[in-house]
Amino acid sequence: MSIRLSPAILDLIEALKKMPGFGPRSAQRAAFHLLQNRDGSLDALGEALSKVRGGVTRCKLCNTFTEGDICPVCLDEGRDPGLLCVVESAADQMALDSSLAWPGFYFVLMGRLSPVTGVGPGDIGVDQLMKRVGVAVEEGILREVVIAMSYTPEGDATAYYLIEALKKRWPQLRVTRLARGLPAGIEIEYTDLSTIANAVYSRRDA
Ligand code: ZN
Repeated sequence: MSIRLSPAILDLIEALKKMPGFGPRSAQRAAFHLLQNRDGSLDALGEALSKVRGGVTRCKLCNTFTEGDICPVCLDEGRDPGLLCVVESAADQMALDSSLAWPGFYFVLMGRLSPVTGVGPGDIGVDQLMKRVGVAVEEGILREVVIAMSYTPEGDATAYYLIEALKKRWPQLRVTRLARGLPAGIEIEYTDLSTIANAVYSRRDA
């Protein structure tokens, strides 16, 4: 005989299993932790989840998560409007910005292209990126787009797709990629800040 968990608890474990870094065991541990700490962890998590669910949307300019129409980064007047860095997640954007090496703005894609799992350009926000670049090119303010994809197979495929698409539409636009100094196969968000900074400083034309 094995213990049968109630459907509600099983649903919670299933939901937690979908989190990055969670396997069946850690999802189960987290679920029991939440249930055992109802006043602290469970209620706080429930409240936080309902707040982000109701209040967090996408920035109209850079596509990152924010409350309100435009995120604080896009409102930052100290940044160089001639520079746009394309990242594959809000986590990568945080890592890049923490390295203090990037003086420009960002566009945050929602993931990478993955033909195997059926993730296409429309799913990750490539259309919005092209629109954003188009407006900035027309206004004559954009000098360079940096493709800051990690050097993983899907990151590479996404980078090549974006570089081709950008160069085809705007042949004069400078398109660069972060330097190869980034470790191969490792996500940007897990890379140390000085390595990220070096990859930004020694970025190369794509
Ligand atoms: Zn923004």
